[in-house]
Amino acid sequence: MSDTKVIDGKQIAADLRLETKDRVTDFQSKYNKVPTLAVVLVGEDPASQVYVNTKTKMAKEIGMDVEDHFLEKTVTEKELLSLIDQLNKNEKVNGILVQLPLPEHMDSRLIIDAIDPIKDADGFHAINVGRNSIGGDLLKKTFTPCTPLGCYLMLKKVVPDLKGMHAVIIGRSNIVGKPMAQLLLEESCTVTIVHSKTKDIEDMVKQADIVVAAVGRPNMVKSNWVKDGAIVIDVGINRIDHPDKPGKTKLVGDVDYDDVFNVASAITPVPGGVGPMTIACLLKNTVDAAFRQQD
Ligand code: NDP
Repeated sequence: MSDTKVIDGKQIAADLRLETKDRVTDFQSKYNKVPTLAVVLVGEDPASQVYVNTKTKMAKEIGMDVEDHFLEKTVTEKELLSLIDQLNKNEKVNGILVQLPLPEHMDSRLIIDAIDPIKDADGFHAINVGRNSIGGDLLKKTFTPCTPLGCYLMLKKVVPDLKGMHAVIIGRSNIVGKPMAQLLLEESCTVTIVHSKTKDIEDMVKQADIVVAAVGRPNMVKSNWVKDGAIVIDVGINRIDHPDKPGKTKLVGDVDYDDVFNVASAITPVPGGVGPMTIACLLKNTVDAAFRQQD
């Protein structure tokens, strides 16, 4: 389509951070304290280190406090649980983020469910997952996982009323695909989730008014999978060898952007789409948590 809209995740995220910054100021003047996020990183995974540093920097830029807890890869589950217990009890801490993935010797579900649900800035605790799934009034008491929340907020900028649209979500992970489906169901979309065992995946995707790709396979979605005029949200972040610069790499999504651009009515770029929104939503969730803890 000649008039395809590029959904500018950087700009929408900057606007959301500005709104959140105002709420930080408001919280400070009402309660005389600063919303605080505790970030726990186990091990030295380079990608996780980059994410954590970016989250910390952006939180500080909007006036929040961040407590970083960097732990050795060899830390025991018991030691990590004890840190989470301290953070749960620490009144200064409003949001707790445990960066995933955790080392293999840890039970991630056990660790995430040890976080007090009211401090669960990532929205991964089973109680918050349940509340997101039930929906309705419980959405006011839950935290929605940051990546799907970011996708949802971008979609609403393109089409404020999503009712009746058919959304096809590629990927069924607990952090993206499943919560994305819940959010869109709550908006009265018709939702299909496809995954690695789905037959005729291209035909399924072709029926979508909204495509959300969260797979982890570079450039998988091609223009012949996408209906003319569909809105395409690309969650994927994949590092590939640079096609034109030997020895260099580049980031691409799960959608073949240049190809799909020709058929979509709106599309998110990678980088500069979902990524910045994920971080902005984490900050929003932490400030929501701070206000809720006062109530
Ligand atoms: P997971 O690996 O947890 O899930 C991937 C999903 O894709 C699974 O449901 C899997 O199916 C499905 N899948 C894999 N291969 C295929 C295939 N050939 N056809 C159809 N479905 C397939 O990944 P995540 O959900 O955590 O992340 C997905 C992508 O999003 C990654 O690139 C990740 O880096 C990125 N990401 C980006 C974020 C951001 O802020 N922008 C945040 C989080 C993730 P099955 O269940 O059957 O195995």
